[in-house]
Amino acid sequence: MLRSRYNKKATSLRKQWVASNTARLRRSQAMYLKRNSPRNVMPDKTAFVWIVETLSNSPECQECMVWPFGTYPNGYGKLTIHQIKYQVHRISYIITRGSIPEGLRILHSCDNPPCFNPLHLRVGTAKDNTQDAITKGRMHCGERSGPSKCTDEGVRLIRDSNLSLEELSVRLSLTVRNIRRIRSRDTWKHLP
Ligand SMILES: [Zn+2]
Repeated sequence: MLRSRYNKKATSLRKQWVASNTARLRRSQAMYLKRNSPRNVMPDKTAFVWIVETLSNSPECQECMVWPFGTYPNGYGKLTIHQIKYQVHRISYIITRGSIPEGLRILHSCDNPPCFNPLHLRVGTAKDNTQDAITKGRMHCGERSGPSKCTDEGVRLIRDSNLSLEELSVRLSLTVRNIRRIRSRDTWKHLP
């Protein structure tokens, strides 16, 4: 019951977002085309127009939108605009949501580097990115990963469950002291 109410709310929020988003997409496409006179056609112009059109045409797409052109060795889509190379997921974020604050990264909730679906993208710090990698098992979690061995899920378990500190200690392989500090929000303050 609660869940269906939540879904309804999420759908209506998404619809609102899509409505304002479509207008922004149209504007950015018009601006791009105005700035680029026919004489000044960049080799990757087609790819840029393609991404703008794809984003405009499928604003409600829930699946991963995989970049079909060139990619970096790490799998991120590559797009050249005025001889400068960009990562496609960042371009997608800029087109649909606006500028990315200085020094921040764009993270994939789907963990699929060539995906540029704006619904799968969010801003975060380099630290969030590392934490994401640990949570999703992209990085080793253990002696080599430094002092912080807990994950976002672990923190949620510590704060939301009724398990005792000792039970949590065994389950998460953390010390009781660490768990107490996480539960009292002395550490992992960035999570609710
Ligand atoms: Zn995706």
